[in-house]
Amino acid sequence: MPEARTLRVCALYPELMNIYADRGNLLLLRRRCEWRGIGFELTASDLGEPLDPEQADLYYIGGGQDRDQRLCAFDLAEVKREGLHAAAARGAAMLAVCGGYQLLGHSYELGRETLPGAGLVDLRTVRSDGPRLIGNVAIEVELPGLDRPRVLAGFENHGGRTQLGPDARALGRVLRGHGNDGRSGVEGVRRGTVIGTYLHGPLLPKNVWLADWLIARALGREEPLPPLDDALEAAAHAEARRAAGS
Ligand code: GLN
Repeated sequence: MPEARTLRVCALYPELMNIYADRGNLLLLRRRCEWRGIGFELTASDLGEPLDPEQADLYYIGGGQDRDQRLCAFDLAEVKREGLHAAAARGAAMLAVCGGYQLLGHSYELGRETLPGAGLVDLRTVRSDGPRLIGNVAIEVELPGLDRPRVLAGFENHGGRTQLGPDARALGRVLRGHGNDGRSGVEGVRRGTVIGTYLHGPLLPKNVWLADWLIARALGREEPLPPLDDALEAAAHAEARRAAGS
C-alpha cells in the first residue's frame, strides 16, 4: 500500500564527510523509500549553515579524513550544535559513520590538538599512535522493535579509539573486527534513534534491515515497513559475514 509520507533526509557536510560509500548509503535509503511508494527528499547542511531541527526526519554524517573532520568539528560544535540537539530531542533519526560518529561525542583528540564534538552522545575519541584499526567487521545488534538480534556487517578503517562514557550504550557487541577501540569488545553507540558506528560501507546496502529500521523510526512508524525482495541484499550480507568470518 503506498505511503503518503515523504522521508526527508539531511546530509551534513556531504562534500567533506563522504568517504567509503556514504553516497551509496543515501542512495539506498532513496531506493527503499521509492520502491515502497514513500517520497524521498535529500537536502544538505554545509559549513556555516545552522541546522534546522525541523528540516529532516533523518540526519546523516559520513566518514572523513582527519583534515576534513577538523573543518567540520568546529562548525558542528559552534554552528550546528543547538539544531542537532533539538532534532535529536524531537526524535529525529541520525546515522553517523566513522569520522561523523567520532564528532557526535564530546571530543576528538589528535596529538596536542583537541577537536570539539557535538556532545550528543557520551563518548570521547583519541587518535592513537598505534596502528589504524582496519578490516572487515561484524557486530551483533539488538534494536527496539526487532524480533531478534541482528548481525551488522561492514568495514572499518580508523586511527581514533573511542571510549564510551557512563551515559552511553554501545550499538553492538563485536563478533569480528576491532570495534570502538580494539579492546572493549563493543562497537558504536546508540541513544534512542541516534546511531553512531565505525562501520563503513556500503553499510546500508549490506544491512538493509538497518536501513529499514532507520526509515521506520524516522517516519515515526511503529509497524514494520512492507517487505521488499531482498534476495540480492541478503546474499551480499551473507558474503560480508563470510568475509568477516562470523
Ligand atoms: N579520521 C578518522 C580516523 O582515522 C575517521 C576515519 C574514517 O572516517 N574512516 O579515526
